[in-house]
Amino acid sequence: MTADGAFTYDGGKVAPGERQNLRYRVSETYFGDPVRIPVTVINGERPGPTMFLSAAAHGDELNGIAVVRSVAYDWDLATLAGTIVCLPVLNVPGFLTQQRYLPIYDRDLNRSFPGDPTSTSAKRMAHAIFRNFVEPCDLGIDFHTSTRGRTNTLHVRADVDQPAVSRLAHAFGSSVIVDGAGSDGTLRGEATRTGVPTVTIEMGEAHRFERPLIDDALAGVRSVFAEYGLWDRTQSQVRWPGWRTVVTEKTWIRADAGGIVDMHYDRGDVIQEGERLCTITDPFKDDGTPVEAPFTGVLLGVLENPVVYPGNPICHLAEIDEETAQIVGRRAPDR
Ligand SMILES: [Zn+2]
Repeated sequence: MTADGAFTYDGGKVAPGERQNLRYRVSETYFGDPVRIPVTVINGERPGPTMFLSAAAHGDELNGIAVVRSVAYDWDLATLAGTIVCLPVLNVPGFLTQQRYLPIYDRDLNRSFPGDPTSTSAKRMAHAIFRNFVEPCDLGIDFHTSTRGRTNTLHVRADVDQPAVSRLAHAFGSSVIVDGAGSDGTLRGEATRTGVPTVTIEMGEAHRFERPLIDDALAGVRSVFAEYGLWDRTQSQVRWPGWRTVVTEKTWIRADAGGIVDMHYDRGDVIQEGERLCTITDPFKDDGTPVEAPFTGVLLGVLENPVVYPGNPICHLAEIDEETAQIVGRRAPDR
């Protein structure tokens, strides 16, 4: 930010009251043509924090793209106090090929931050993004989905030991916060380490637009807008999700038998210790192998492609206490 309140990046400037759609060059193709990411910067008339909203660091994770585009192009931002930097598709080569990683040597863009202008192609791309559109911000939200073949209930991942990050994580107003620092090279981890408190939102599965989750995430962003004063309280309020749990322990329940999985619960469900999560069946549908919940928890993620070898993950279970389990109630099994 300059003294006159303008947002600046390499080669450009967005003054207060201005909106700019730009295609920012982050690399070049084999033909030497530019690889450009779409960026929308909206600088409000009134001063306030600068926040980035990013999606598709993994190229096939679409839900977040819908969230970021909605904020940038559907919302009435006339009264915005502050600046939002919208990055709907970070991994353009992955998006074009609808795959998770950068097609170039299968690099993970979300392990390449903060980047390096003299290193690998992935790190050069990450550097161009990070330096221009992440570092200048005061806070950020990076949207993800589960890996292909699995699906996640909507939850926040954040390093809640850091007060500034905890504030943002709670402001989003989702029921489940998974606490952790974030691996090296992730946008969330590196932005936070650089002094830009950032959280990840996990929501749904790859290759889909899931409207209920997108609407829920938009309500979360509205809530963040209220917490940080980007909108005044007549436009949005900080939301309370009805119940909340902050978990550090999350466990992948793995199959001990190969087979076809008959899941008895869905993402977001609460399951009591000892209840049957799923049954692994053989081709003849004989008895089947029951898989029980080792503790009471909420199902953060489940298999979408319901076939397993021994050792494959079936679901991601986060432990919750009995009181929380009572509040949430539980849905009937065998739906
Ligand atoms: Zn992802």
